[in-house]
Amino acid sequence: MSKYQQLLFKRTNETLSRWSKENEVSVKEVYRFLHSIKGTAASIDLPEWSEVASHLLDKIDENDSSYWRIEAVTKLLSAIINLSNQQQNDILLPSCDKEIPSDGEKEKLVLLIEDDISMLTILKSALEEAGLMVLVAMDAEKGINIFYDQKPDCVILDYYLPEQDGLDVLKTIQEKANTFFIPIVMISGDQSKKTRIKGFQSGADDFIVKPFDIDEFVVRVERQLQRKDLIDCAVLLDELTGAYNRKFLKLEIEREIYEYSRSNVSFTIAMLDLDHFKEVNDTYGHSVGDEVLKKFVSFITEEKRQSDYLIRYGGEEFVLLLPRTKAADGKKVVNRLLNGFSKEVFNYPEGSFSVTFSAGLVEVEGEEKCFNQWIKLADDALYEAKRTGRNTVKISDSENSNSLTETKKVHIGIIDDDEIVREIVGDHFSNLALETYDIDVCRFPSGKQFLNSTWNQQQGQYLMILDVMMPEVDGFEVLQAIRSRFPENQFTILMLTGRKSEKDIVRALELGADDYLTKPFGMAELEARVKRLLLRVIR
Ligand code: GH3
Ligand code: MG
Ligand code: MG
Ligand code: MG
Repeated sequence: MSKYQQLLFKRTNETLSRWSKENEVSVKEVYRFLHSIKGTAASIDLPEWSEVASHLLDKIDENDSSYWRIEAVTKLLSAIINLSNQQQNDILLPSCDKEIPSDGEKEKLVLLIEDDISMLTILKSALEEAGLMVLVAMDAEKGINIFYDQKPDCVILDYYLPEQDGLDVLKTIQEKANTFFIPIVMISGDQSKKTRIKGFQSGADDFIVKPFDIDEFVVRVERQLQRKDLIDCAVLLDELTGAYNRKFLKLEIEREIYEYSRSNVSFTIAMLDLDHFKEVNDTYGHSVGDEVLKKFVSFITEEKRQSDYLIRYGGEEFVLLLPRTKAADGKKVVNRLLNGFSKEVFNYPEGSFSVTFSAGLVEVEGEEKCFNQWIKLADDALYEAKRTGRNTVKISDSENSNSLTETKKVHIGIIDDDEIVREIVGDHFSNLALETYDIDVCRFPSGKQFLNSTWNQQQGQYLMILDVMMPEVDGFEVLQAIRSRFPENQFTILMLTGRKSEKDIVRALELGADDYLTKPFGMAELEARVKRLLLRVIR
């Protein structure tokens, strides 16, 4: 039995036993109870429950505002109570030990840029079935933004798009795609040889003419991904900046830790993150952002000691490994680097600016810890440096770090009028383990309650699961409100849309949803989707 089923049983029992202590229950509440069993049970492989609930619902008027005596309710619900009693012995919940895969196990990310919604939904679900994560964009601009932000492993690009078409997109992203060996697959309804040749000449790695066979399409995309994987495995350098990459970091830190266990000479890990780097991109464009990253690496490379290693950890996050160095000395080194780098001036026609960074250090010594734990300590110290105003260096207090530093938080919000969806989803994600993050889950029965709460005003990243169909304020209005009130990159939004409702999907994407899932969905499907989006959020 799945834990979702157990959760449903548990909720059902709780509701029934709560009611049994009361004299009467409102008809509306009974209606909602059954309605949510009907919807949820079908999603979690309990068709019998769903059928019984559906049958009982027919007997109730949704708008009846009266109350029923508990005896009448018990009688009406006897079939549900029977089903529930069958499960009585079995409602202990197992602990949830879901781990988000850390680096190396990350799913392949495909960016799909296609303005035809039917094509888009079909291709997305075919690729997802093959175990890929798919990001979608319906126009060139959005596609280019996602490309720069997410660095996908493959791009699928429609030849004809509104406003800027596929060839324009290709022109914009080609250099970066080449640098990172990101394959680009063009698709087009145009059968002509001229168009295909133009596509290949512009840098497409494959060109598939519509209509095409979906299975073959998936295999061709997978083939491109395999080739990229092979190249990635062979490379220890970051292609853009020339710094070492994460694969190297893991190898090297493990070697250093081993070295420490033999020689007892400690070393220091420094985690560096450029300050307000997003503003550079937003103000001057991504290619200027890239230039800053390259300059940062060349500056540090030149200034650091020969024996130190500079590694690109993520987007604008770097690790500087300082062998045979104590934290206090490391701090001096990093402060000197910070001082020097912040004096560099970047000159562009649009203006001049300079950039600072924040850093967190940890000295590897004492109690044995694994690679990830040391990185987490450095990361916590970095977070502390950010929190206290940026442009500064902090040392982790590894002994008291748990009490001293706040762990970073990821907020997951669920806005759905269906109580069981809320409960199950909420319970489930509260227990999720996510690298170095704490997960903070909050549930809202309506958009209004979410918008009026202060929960949405905390620091950190938000992942919202948002139902489209809700009474009063619907999901679209909530989506619009979120997009207009909060910074775009702070809120990742997954919309729950009606089955086959392409209109809803288009609307959701146009209003800025990051992804969608059609109802009714399996809980496993939702879990997979949320995990993938979370990886994106913390990447
Ligand atoms: P903070 O001071 O809190 O670190 O703010 P921030 O803006 O630096 O941090 P945030 O994590 O919000 O944004 C990081 C940005 O870095 C977002 C992403 O688009 C950008 N970025 C990541 N990788 C690259 C890259 O390779 N090139 C460019 N140009 N930008 C990148
Ligand atoms: Mg930053
Ligand atoms: Mg960062
Ligand atoms: Mg609803």
